[in-house]
Amino acid sequence: MKILVVNCGSSSLKYQLIDMNDESVIAKGLCERIGIEGSKLTHQPAGKDKYVVENPMPDHTVAIQMVMDALQDKEHGVIENTDEIAAIGHRVLHGGTVYSDSCIVNEDVKRVIRECFDLGPLHNPANLMGIEACEKAMPGKPNVAVWDTAFGMKMPEKAYLYAIPHEYYEKYSIRRYGFHGTSHMFVSGEAIKFGNLDPENAKVIVCHLGNGASVSASIGGKCVDTSMGLTPLEGLIMGTRSGDIDPAVVQFICNKEGKDVNELLNILNKKSGVLGMSGGVSSDFRDIEAAKKEGNHLAEVALDAFIYRVAKYIGAYTAAMNGVDAIAFTAGVGENDKASRKAICEYLGYLGVKIDDEANDVRGKKAVISAEDSKVKVMLIPTNEELAIARDTLALVK
Ligand code: AMP
Repeated sequence: MKILVVNCGSSSLKYQLIDMNDESVIAKGLCERIGIEGSKLTHQPAGKDKYVVENPMPDHTVAIQMVMDALQDKEHGVIENTDEIAAIGHRVLHGGTVYSDSCIVNEDVKRVIRECFDLGPLHNPANLMGIEACEKAMPGKPNVAVWDTAFGMKMPEKAYLYAIPHEYYEKYSIRRYGFHGTSHMFVSGEAIKFGNLDPENAKVIVCHLGNGASVSASIGGKCVDTSMGLTPLEGLIMGTRSGDIDPAVVQFICNKEGKDVNELLNILNKKSGVLGMSGGVSSDFRDIEAAKKEGNHLAEVALDAFIYRVAKYIGAYTAAMNGVDAIAFTAGVGENDKASRKAICEYLGYLGVKIDDEANDVRGKKAVISAEDSKVKVMLIPTNEELAIARDTLALVK
């Protein structure tokens, strides 16, 4: 059975066609610059050459049609026709407080995605466009919504309610939702299996450290707390997002610079994080590390602050769970950057965390990177959101 996984951004569409018999990726690709001049599809069939098509893509419907054409292309395709695709799994950012378990898309699901446009202004409209494009391209095929907020929706009230007047939760569902949920769920589950931990009671902290970054705490795979909030802006220092700051900073800068709140939120989302802290060096952690090596003080501070913030969250979440059995690193920085992993773990000596430098000299594959006598198992677990989405989709349509 083949499942197509679709992840739509406002001007992009990522896809993977997965054979669920052995969970192998048959083809994957990316549509870029949808709705903008210079649209391009890059299609990568497994074991064959990359195939690039440069054609205007005015909207997601055209993009999906181009994906369908590439998948069925005589030379570069991997399927005879779309009958081979059993269902389509979509990453959907926000289901508000209504939906959190993955579900087959119907009119009510689409209504909720639409009602949550203001909770996920960049992603929800694109996610809905992707679903509607697939409905048009493959009428009658089941589309499944897998919510990025699902993991965080299991948090207890004390973790998800903000200390603001309760009426705002009642009126507008203002709460901590948490994001990267599919990744946190997948990685915590894999960490329990790979680390031979108790599936019911294991206390796991997942550090998803990429351009967007978040930490979660879970017991037996159930989320206890997570660092992103109502939006992905809260929590860690990220590539371009500030993470936690005193909300009064917003008012202060607005008054001083004559900006409105929307402008400032844009700055906190897109011009802050290590990009902002480093004085504009880059949002890419590799560039920040290179600048630090060349003696750039602000780049060094940005990297130190990023690591320090991760370590603070690990400490807080260890307290929240009254212990921790395993810490798992994932995503671009977490999977590739041994120096950051080591630097974070150096803060955790009080927990009995000990890194094995040789074991930590690894990239992009599952590994235990802590020493034999470490009190906490530290692991590298590559995330695979597409596979997690495909598994949920299969479970619903089988
Ligand atoms: P992601 O958002 O998960 O794709 O992660 C992207 C981030 O991972 C970028 O900021 C990259 O600079 C970072 N990254 C990838 N490889 C490395 C590496 N070897 N060392 C440091 N950062 C890396």
